[in-house]
Amino acid sequence: MLEKENCMTTDLVTSVFGSNVFNDVVMRSYLPKNIYKSLKRSILGEHPLEPSVADVVANAMKDWALKKGATHFCHWFQPMTGHTAEKHDSFISPTPDGGTIMEFSGKELIQGEPDASSFPSGGLRATFEARGYTAWDCTSPVFVKEDGKNITLYIPCAFCSYTGEALDKKTPLLRSIEVLNKHSIRILQALGNTTTKRVTATLGSEQEYFLVDGKFAQKRLDLILAGRTLFGAPSPRGQELDDHYFGSLHERVASFMHDLNVELWRLGVSAKTQHNEVSPAQYELAPVFTTVNMATDHNQLMMETLEKIALRHGLVCLLHEKPFAGVNGSGKHNNWSLVTDDGNNLLDPGETPHENMIFLVFLSAVIKAVDKYAKLLRSTVANVGNDHRLGANEAPPAIVSIFLGDQLTDIIEQFATGGAKSSKSGGHLQLGSSTLPPLPRDCTDRNRTSPFAFTGNKFEFRMVGSSQSTAGPTFVLNTIVADVLSEIASELESASDPAAAAQGVLQKIAKEHSRILYNGDNYTDSWVTEAKKRGLANIRSTVDSLATLTDPENIEVLSKHNVLTETELRARAEILLENYSKVINIEALTTLNMAKRQILPTAASFSARLGNAVTAVKEAGVAADTQKAMLEKVCSLMSLLHDGISALEAAVEKAGGIEDGLKKAEAFRDLVVPAMLKVREPADELEKIVDADLWPLPTYAEMLFCK
Ligand code: ADP
Ligand code: MG
Repeated sequence: MLEKENCMTTDLVTSVFGSNVFNDVVMRSYLPKNIYKSLKRSILGEHPLEPSVADVVANAMKDWALKKGATHFCHWFQPMTGHTAEKHDSFISPTPDGGTIMEFSGKELIQGEPDASSFPSGGLRATFEARGYTAWDCTSPVFVKEDGKNITLYIPCAFCSYTGEALDKKTPLLRSIEVLNKHSIRILQALGNTTTKRVTATLGSEQEYFLVDGKFAQKRLDLILAGRTLFGAPSPRGQELDDHYFGSLHERVASFMHDLNVELWRLGVSAKTQHNEVSPAQYELAPVFTTVNMATDHNQLMMETLEKIALRHGLVCLLHEKPFAGVNGSGKHNNWSLVTDDGNNLLDPGETPHENMIFLVFLSAVIKAVDKYAKLLRSTVANVGNDHRLGANEAPPAIVSIFLGDQLTDIIEQFATGGAKSSKSGGHLQLGSSTLPPLPRDCTDRNRTSPFAFTGNKFEFRMVGSSQSTAGPTFVLNTIVADVLSEIASELESASDPAAAAQGVLQKIAKEHSRILYNGDNYTDSWVTEAKKRGLANIRSTVDSLATLTDPENIEVLSKHNVLTETELRARAEILLENYSKVINIEALTTLNMAKRQILPTAASFSARLGNAVTAVKEAGVAADTQKAMLEKVCSLMSLLHDGISALEAAVEKAGGIEDGLKKAEAFRDLVVPAMLKVREPADELEKIVDADLWPLPTYAEMLFCK
């Protein structure tokens, strides 16, 4: 019986996986051979898509989508909001005889023209200059998505202004992929590789999230509007028992994960690992890695699907970096590597890394790039939510450093003092019981505290926030590594003995950039002191970090490689700062709303009840000292809360009145954020003493522990 059931499960997964994707298999069966070949060459960037080919492809897509029940198509793009955007058009086209046919042309596939005026443009567009374009990104497959009864063909797209400037997250990512490929190939050729035609960056993003019962979430305006709790006394039990991490899955959560996986598999997203994370009510999902472009699209779909499926299970999924104070926040670990079209992972050290010149050159390029552009990399993970994480004792600090582990650190040290002659090996572990097998041990331990860790055959960038698009951190990483590779390539190409020249490059990088390498505990104060001595930046706030985005070296590296022009970069800096102020403003207004309309009135009712109790008890001839002490405590907290509300109102007004984007964001950080905390403190104290039946908000204990 079980065997039969297992067989059915295999059938289910294989028949479901990618069933809603116009993938290679579907393309082959729907497209004439010559059209298929021509499209594939366009996907590989070998030639632009011809209009006649586009018409045939569009028609095939429509036929396939109609079979899936689709009535509409949409250009799906990623504006600077960090979310995705879509405008649906039906396939319907009226005929002269009053009937209708379903049509979809090559032009409609390739180009869309949404009104761009209301997307953030950082001054690139005035509201009256409305025109923007979406352009089909044929490197990420189209797919059909079902939302309720609505079934639509989704076309992944880039988005630009009428004047051709990138207004989205995808365009610079696509540009960076080209640059990285170009300079990686130069390196490979200089070192004697004549077979590799293409190098692609790969990405696997581990996604952390929280699940809260919908009946609690609906009662909290802060969760509804800000995605995080703005009030809440700590739960008597938190994460101190470490029993949630990798704990057995609760049945309700496990069922949610099952439905989530099936929905993602349909969309071709290869959801692979799932587990309970450190904080109660926190979980993680990781897909199998793929090209950075598809992985970024897939991560957007993953975030959207998490939220959608949670609702079906009466749950609310929180993607915020810090939904609850006092327990861990959520990140997104971006695993990144480079793979060749003939299947080699360029960051795979092999058995004897000290002899693996190609690996060492790429590794060194990453080291130099991360050291040289640490501030730029830091700025790609700057957002309001991440300010609660980075530098707090749970997540990587705001200081960028690289963990290489013992084996590679040893090799880099050998290079710094001459050349590398040996590689340490891991050996075997004996567990002391004859029934347990000897385990081969990796040459390197893990380091959970490092923001940028080498993990065997890839780097894991752990500073990325759980709600962020992976595009920003990835296109910057691609570009800065490409930049260093281009320098090295020029040196190798002009050398009479490229192998000897490569040795020289490795030595120089080992000497000049080893300050960025750190294998110790990144959470300690001693690292903060040590990092300062090494001259590494420690930029703790989003505002300060975004202020570095337009530093001359960042403009230079991004524009030199045509990833972002100076104008595009300045626009982005403006959008991100503006977003910071807007988000804090929403949080502050929500804080005021809840404090004034829920918490203060509740405290007032409770104080009236206590006042009556004092009078009644006294009248009965008994001392009412306890009731009086309680009343005094409540009244003094109410008074603090009242003052806090007035101060926050004044702070919001002052910050809101500032014109300059940077000064405004600074005011939101320095005036509004502390004023919000001054409202929260007395409110959380009140929660601890006000009658539980009166308290209007679900508590931390309920939200974190009730399943
Ligand atoms: P861990 O928690 O140990 O870091 P996970 O299995 O949770 O491991 O996640 C590891 C992620 O790294 C997965 O998404 C995996 O597909 C991805 N990954 C593995 N190899 C590569 C690679 N060469 N390039 C990019 N990502 C990779
Ligand atoms: Mg993990």
